[in-house]
Amino acid sequence: MRNRKPMTVEELKQFIYAGKSGFVMTNTKTGASREYLVVQSRDKKRWYVCKQFVGYIGTLFAGPGANVLMWSPNSKVSQLSEEFTTFTWLMKQLWEKAALPETLHVTHNGNCGRCGRKLTDDKSVELGYGPHCWKMLSKDIDFWPRVVGEK
Ligand SMILES: [Zn+2]
Repeated sequence: MRNRKPMTVEELKQFIYAGKSGFVMTNTKTGASREYLVVQSRDKKRWYVCKQFVGYIGTLFAGPGANVLMWSPNSKVSQLSEEFTTFTWLMKQLWEKAALPETLHVTHNGNCGRCGRKLTDDKSVELGYGPHCWKMLSKDIDFWPRVVGEK
């Protein structure tokens, strides 16, 4: 798809908590990719993390520590699984190292990160959000720092 450029660390931090964010991690050396979906609960206090083809793997809880994936007995995989450790690694890169390896590209999956609807125009594809959702997110610039208790 056109204009689907890799997200920066800051963009990805926001995207993950935006509401219904599907993103693809691609190793540009091997071409291997994996896709995750992070869905916010109705009460906005948690985010359910799913791995494509696997299902639910764990939960992020709002507040300090929201960037740590918590395992649950309902998880389809163990905490030692590749699905679980890869997501945990990604969150560590974002929050502790504030950097992603050059060989890793993370892009949205073609749907709006906030509502999950398919992105249809070039501008929305570039942003990763539809016009309405982009407006809502832009109004709330402290949104993700607040989620993880940084503000
Ligand atoms: Zn949307």
